[in-house]
Amino acid sequence: MVVLNSLKHDNIKLDGITGACYKIKGSVIMRIILNKSSSIPIYLQIRNQIRDMILQGILEPGFRLPSERKLAETLGVNRSTVLNAYRDLKADDLIGSHTGAGTTVLMAQTSINKDNMPQKVSKLPWMQLLGGCALRMQQPLVSDILKTANRKDVISFAAGFLAQTHDPVEELLESQCRLLKDYGSTMLQYSSTQGYLPLRESISNLMQKRGITIDPEGIIVLSGSQQAIDLTARIFIDPGDVVIVEEPSFFSALQIFQSVGARIVPVPIDAKGMKIEFLESLLSRIKPKLIYTIPTFQNPSGTVMDIKRRRALLDIAYKYQIPILEDDPYGELRYEGNHLPTLKALDQHGYVIYASTFSKIMFPGMRIGWVVAEREVIRQFVLAKQMADLHTNTLGQWIMDDFLRSNVFHKRLQTVINENRESRRLMIEALKQYAIEDFEWQAPEGGLYFWCRLPRQIDPERLITKAEEKKVVYAPGKIFCLGYTDNHYIRLSFSSPPKELIKQGIKLLMQAVKETMNEEKMKHSPEASEIMPIL
Ligand code: PMP
Repeated sequence: MVVLNSLKHDNIKLDGITGACYKIKGSVIMRIILNKSSSIPIYLQIRNQIRDMILQGILEPGFRLPSERKLAETLGVNRSTVLNAYRDLKADDLIGSHTGAGTTVLMAQTSINKDNMPQKVSKLPWMQLLGGCALRMQQPLVSDILKTANRKDVISFAAGFLAQTHDPVEELLESQCRLLKDYGSTMLQYSSTQGYLPLRESISNLMQKRGITIDPEGIIVLSGSQQAIDLTARIFIDPGDVVIVEEPSFFSALQIFQSVGARIVPVPIDAKGMKIEFLESLLSRIKPKLIYTIPTFQNPSGTVMDIKRRRALLDIAYKYQIPILEDDPYGELRYEGNHLPTLKALDQHGYVIYASTFSKIMFPGMRIGWVVAEREVIRQFVLAKQMADLHTNTLGQWIMDDFLRSNVFHKRLQTVINENRESRRLMIEALKQYAIEDFEWQAPEGGLYFWCRLPRQIDPERLITKAEEKKVVYAPGKIFCLGYTDNHYIRLSFSSPPKELIKQGIKLLMQAVKETMNEEKMKHSPEASEIMPIL
């Protein structure tokens, strides 16, 4: 009989996830993982995992579980939580307690017949097999947002989609047919990991317009700019390395850095972007491996780092020898004011890895982005991409190159800018019309998002439910933060809902805000406290 109390355990503590891993001679015997932000009560998470391990034969009959007190201590939960989990397991006759023998497993599913062959193959306990990297990925946030954003019955301000009108479908058909007729199977073959050379030449020309002089050898084509963040993390970050990010910041970037085990250190932003003096004050204590920034029309805040801070940030990078990953998906989407030079354009010493994408100016579904960097860095990207997906899809690269060489790209970009400018105007109008005191917002000069501050007294979690009841969704502020700053914010994307629904969507959202505020008032009114039992 294995006595668990005599086994060693490691505590698991990752962002939002805790747990314990019990081992015997280095092999994992039992692992319990708790996700405190899950809607499943903690006692059920414990019960379900132990039940699965018993039914799958991982925990054998006679296996002695830790005492309620010990397991509660190890998992950092109340004893009553473990008590409830064990009570359910006992009710299902899966475990039993006997004085002196502790709590032991009563049954297992797998039995061995006389030929020593298992009679029944147990279900593989996938969740018990997850590696550390996967455990750090347990937030299905982006896919959840994408799922809701595509629902026809909701007005979604959640995702940074482009409006689906005016897509150059005809041009795409024409280009694809012509290219396939002329070049046939070449377009359907494997191609270079660094990217289709003519496309890299076209991107090099586009970069010139953004003030960046680079030849095609300094460019790698990627499957979207999110891959640029992912590969940067894989290439440069070891577990425990410090990565500086803005707070708030792009949630997928936070997830990626978390997944590789980085220590993410946030630097707050204000209307002029990342607070550089705050960053510098940190550098006397920590040595970051990377600074990740979205200087232009930041996601989610919409802010633009001013020129003084851009220069100061580069000076800091040079002084402390820290590479910068400049993420620039929105730079071209300016609706008012003047363009500022990118960090890469200002960088005289090759410290900046510049990432951009066609997702926000052409079509996100094509999944084409790119990186501009020093040659030796590009070589590392090639090696890393080779392992990730070998190369970006050949057909898409040819079509994108065709668009960049013809007028289609520039026409499309102008259409996107005009469309977004109009949606932004409608959003401003609606926010003014349905204004609520203490609901603060500022129109961004570009990009796709309004970053709005909720009235203080609102419970942000309650508002999510209220808005969903009214069939409006948005991106809650907490997903962009590491929890250091106040999360009374929401991000509203003005480009994704159809224009004719913007006003209605804002009206419903503001109703939800009002109703949530009223509920809070009720909770705190003297009458309410009279009828509420004080526990
Ligand atoms: N960076 C930022 C700041 C973003 O907002 C996004 C998309 N929302 C990306 C990168 C990824 O874009 P894609 O992979 O579609 O190119």
